Amino acid sequence: MAVPVPLRRLFDYLPPEGLAPSDLIPGQRLWVPFANRKLVAVLVDIVSDSPLEQLKPAVELIDRQPLFDGPSRDFLHWAADYYQAPVGEIYAAALPVALRKGKPADHWAEQWLQLTVEGKGLPESALARAPRQQALLQLLLRRGAQSRTQLKAQGHTTATIRALEERGLAECSIGPTVPPPIPSAESSPAPELNPEQQQVLEAIPTDRFTVSLLEGTTGSGKTEVYLRLMERVLAEGRQALLLVPEIGLTPQTLRRIAARFPDRSIAALHSGLAEGERAQAWLSAAAGQADIVIGTRSAVLTPLPRLGAVIVDEEHDGSFKQQDGVRYSARDLAVVLGRNAGAPVLLGSATPSLESLHNALTGRYQHLRLRNRAGNARPPQIHIVPTLGQPLEEGFTPQVLRHIGDTLSRGEQVLVFINRRGFAPALACDDCGWLADCPHCSSKLTMHRRIRQLRCHHCDYRRALVDSCPQCHSRSLSALGGGTERSEELLGQRFADYPVIRVDRDTTASKQALDRLLAPAREGEPCLLLGTQMLAKGHHLPRVTLVVIQDADGGLFSADFRAPERTGQLLEQVAGRAGRGDLPGRVLVQSRYPQHPLLQLLLEKGYGAFARQLLRDRAVAQLPPHRAMALVRAECEEPRWAEEFLEAARAQMQALAPPSPQLSYLGPVPALLERKSGRFRFYVQVTAERRGQLQPLLARLCQWAEGYKNRRLRWAVDMDAQEL
Ligand code: ADP
Ligand code: ZN
Ligand code: ZN
Repeated sequence: MAVPVPLRRLFDYLPPEGLAPSDLIPGQRLWVPFANRKLVAVLVDIVSDSPLEQLKPAVELIDRQPLFDGPSRDFLHWAADYYQAPVGEIYAAALPVALRKGKPADHWAEQWLQLTVEGKGLPESALARAPRQQALLQLLLRRGAQSRTQLKAQGHTTATIRALEERGLAECSIGPTVPPPIPSAESSPAPELNPEQQQVLEAIPTDRFTVSLLEGTTGSGKTEVYLRLMERVLAEGRQALLLVPEIGLTPQTLRRIAARFPDRSIAALHSGLAEGERAQAWLSAAAGQADIVIGTRSAVLTPLPRLGAVIVDEEHDGSFKQQDGVRYSARDLAVVLGRNAGAPVLLGSATPSLESLHNALTGRYQHLRLRNRAGNARPPQIHIVPTLGQPLEEGFTPQVLRHIGDTLSRGEQVLVFINRRGFAPALACDDCGWLADCPHCSSKLTMHRRIRQLRCHHCDYRRALVDSCPQCHSRSLSALGGGTERSEELLGQRFADYPVIRVDRDTTASKQALDRLLAPAREGEPCLLLGTQMLAKGHHLPRVTLVVIQDADGGLFSADFRAPERTGQLLEQVAGRAGRGDLPGRVLVQSRYPQHPLLQLLLEKGYGAFARQLLRDRAVAQLPPHRAMALVRAECEEPRWAEEFLEAARAQMQALAPPSPQLSYLGPVPALLERKSGRFRFYVQVTAERRGQLQPLLARLCQWAEGYKNRRLRWAVDMDAQEL
């Protein structure tokens, strides 16, 4: 049994009282006793070699029908091995909350109405004298069995259903659930594909496993390609899975898909659903009933018995990587899922991750491109605004403030992007631009306020924090990339005549809330949108003509080697927000270092050239994607304990594989976000030429760490870590 506890093993039980092993099927859920508790576990296998006298019986069988079929169990076990995760926890992560709590799947079972042999023999013109019955007959003839819920939604009454049953033309039976309905827009016909889109679509075979990276700017028609690929797969009687970033699953997106496929069963798996609805959607996907499954990260773990294509939209998005618990990457698992199902995988982005781009450039993935915008919107103009030595008002130059005012008074909308999180702070001088770098590496030092140190995250060089600039003696030093709440306040006050819409994680816990918040912006009134990453994508705001990026520097000089990549993606995506309608857009990027070569490259040649340069830099530095990387993390209220644990962890791994040119260790070092919820965070980094070299080390480490005695310490293995 896979039991949801943090141990990397399975547990044996006897069948529940009154049941024989032959009554059970792998994939079923059972209640099992575990250390004085009762937990929901999944039956993985039936074995006969366990010493019977030591076993406890399971308490109760939950489902008649197994929830996880063989291929989905194999997939989850593969993922547990790869990410060094407790197998019980990965099953728990795969299940929606209501099912995780043990609610029986039968609760959502549906009554299905289908034609009898006699009914199937009738022509569509039969029952002409009973028009309602005739309409129902025609529906069943054309579309096959229909659930009660579907019939009700289409206006067929219980009386009509009963009439067909009484004539012996139709009969009811119990079957799988259907997903809750999606409010759809008017059904909208597909536009004719342009030649580029046509070529892309033709390059994706549906009869075998391939991975394609679709690189195409915002508005180039990628979503249209996804829809056409789905259409082909559905026509072959298979399911399509579309994974979207957390922020991407908007009612707008759902309506667009529902409008294209009005006759299809569509299951949306997202956090906006009530627990019951989510279980219902999940069960319809797992039973093979849903034709299209759209979901965020965890949807990749859903069993899909008829899977025919996997599409990952905005594949570079950070939300595909789970950052706690089972630390899987939904994007990477999507590829494994496609391979197992013999189905094509399509990864789409305007700003591909370096991982996917590397795979495309080395020929492991097929590289597909859309170079033109599909609609008539023009690409925006981008300008750098130098900030060094400027009289800044809460982080903005007078020029930028003037542009914001002008745009609003023209009746247009402004989006101000304030970068508040995610970057490791480098220390810089506000007057001359001096930056604290490492004397041994080409990287910048990272500021750790608590220990008043500057540290290098590449070679572990350390020095004390300085109070004044070694170059110009200014005492005005600050951390890069640190936009503040105060900037937001200032803008709110200065442009008080206009609505100021503030979007960040705190103001918008749910998609619906975000949608409501943005409603005035969609109305087209002049307004000022203030936000973090949340605003960078997904929303069609045609009246935004000015985008301001308060600070591009944090991402250019961070010790996090992924920060420049993220900055480039962000700038490109944010810029993509400008000028999507008929009005031309303008983007202003504030920076202390307007001459920075990466910034120049990004603005002059675009993300494609920028990303290729970053890939070359990473090769020189021997960093992912050229190398495999895993972090062993530990956090604790007492920092010393976390460090001690990691010292010992590193020794464990080194005993198995000493450092070599193929395998290197770093740390323990403080995490870039050093302290979170009162706990101090550290990591040891292991990089290797091949992933296969890391697996045995990490497996051994987990074995050792599960026996480590310190209850206040939390540890984790983070394979392919995305954050340092
Ligand atoms: P992306 O997903 O790359 O941002 P979309 O597929 O959303 O691009 O397309 C952008 C806009 O262009 C949408 O309004 C879409 O309806 C429209 N569009 C896409 N393909 C075509 C086409 N072949 N002909 C006309 N309009 C198109
Ligand atoms: Zn200085
Ligand atoms: Zn260094």
